[in-house]
Amino acid sequence: MNLARQIEQYLPRQLLKLVKDISKQAAKHGQRVYLVGGVVRDLLLGDPSLSSGLRFDLDLVVEGDAVKLAQQVAEASQAKLLAHHRFGTAKLRYENFTLDLATARRETYARPGALPMVTPGTLKYDLIRRDFSINAMAISLAANDYGELVDSYQGKIDLEHCLIRILHPGSFSDDATRILRAVRYEQRLCFELETQTAQLLKRDIPMLDTISGDRIRHELELIFKEKQPEFVINRLAELGVLQGISPFLKGDGWIAEKFDKARHLKKSTQLPSLYFCLLIYSFSETDVEQFLARLNIPAKLSRAMRDTLRLKTSLPLLDKSSLKPSEIYYLLWEYEPVAIQVNAIASDSSMVHRHLQLFLTKLRYVRTSLDGEELKKLGISAGPEMGKILQMLHKAKLDGEFRTKADEKKLALSLKAPDLNTDPEPSRE
Ligand code: ATP
Ligand code: MG
Repeated sequence: MNLARQIEQYLPRQLLKLVKDISKQAAKHGQRVYLVGGVVRDLLLGDPSLSSGLRFDLDLVVEGDAVKLAQQVAEASQAKLLAHHRFGTAKLRYENFTLDLATARRETYARPGALPMVTPGTLKYDLIRRDFSINAMAISLAANDYGELVDSYQGKIDLEHCLIRILHPGSFSDDATRILRAVRYEQRLCFELETQTAQLLKRDIPMLDTISGDRIRHELELIFKEKQPEFVINRLAELGVLQGISPFLKGDGWIAEKFDKARHLKKSTQLPSLYFCLLIYSFSETDVEQFLARLNIPAKLSRAMRDTLRLKTSLPLLDKSSLKPSEIYYLLWEYEPVAIQVNAIASDSSMVHRHLQLFLTKLRYVRTSLDGEELKKLGISAGPEMGKILQMLHKAKLDGEFRTKADEKKLALSLKAPDLNTDPEPSRE
């Protein structure tokens, strides 16, 4: 099968030119270059909107020295080069694209979950080390057979039958992150796990214990980049995989509803963090510690997750109509904003929801008009007295007691301790 037409149709012009130039450069040294992995799958699917959309990160395999080739290409173009000599891989970064070049390689695993040992190999070896048949296809970029599909493991047939299939029975135990990847593609593409793949996946769930926290966390991050990660999470729960990561994790209708709500927030730059915090919302404060350690969660996200649970237990305090804005502020100011947002999504009380939103959208930004310098000009000396006055000004401002800066000055002066030693500086008003 030849996919030249699909390549020309779907790849942006500029990217296409780059890829062709790379292949020409390689040909000068008798080397062949192939497009490989996700891009081949997506081109065959024909509808980029089905998968992760138009791809600007392409994977290329070189039968030859990928690092040397990348160096030559970088010298001749504007690309930034990042080379990993040990793995025979290089990344070329352009303004709008990145290209990953890898030396065709053979991988062997010293033990399950270990990083593989890598030796140079042919394309065929390079393809069998891959996760699923639908990701183990390549397209030649060489001039003599440009566009020709290399499909040694029936990936195209599996694509047509909508199946996720591993390439050998030891695949999940070699690298149990593939368990999470399998379900991610299954849900993204609305495919099914092929029967034996499903059996082996379930059998090898305990092999997740061989995977480092960082790698598991990375796979969860990839899941959270999917359009509807709740489908993946719920399917992982159904298969018993989530429990293999942490016995406290659950996937259910609640997760589905809240993930959807998080995604529909106006400003969702923190979306992955919101998903992480929703995922542990049913945990106890002690259970979460085990989870944070298992996934080696970075400090800021750990804080957000702990705060989420701490705030959850304090929500009844916010379920009162009589609360003044300053009271809401003091109940919330110490928490990570992500934790507050998560509780706003999770809480079923409209009052709590309103108070949390008030804090997030307004109260946390309230500042007094007078700062320390201006207070000094009013004769208030730096130190505990000034701290106390600033706090009282802030509280009054939160509660809407000032209309003008002059109101604020008036209150500051009235709070000032009488100065017995010196005459106060005359007011400029
Ligand atoms: P997408 O980016 O759309 O999720 P992709 O196929 O490009 O899909 P990447 O994670 O970018 O996925 O990986 C590129 C290719 O590398 C995959 O298509 C697959 O062939 C291979 N690959 C990635 N991770 C693994 C793994 N854990 N085991 C084996 N092969 C893998
Ligand atoms: Mg990719």
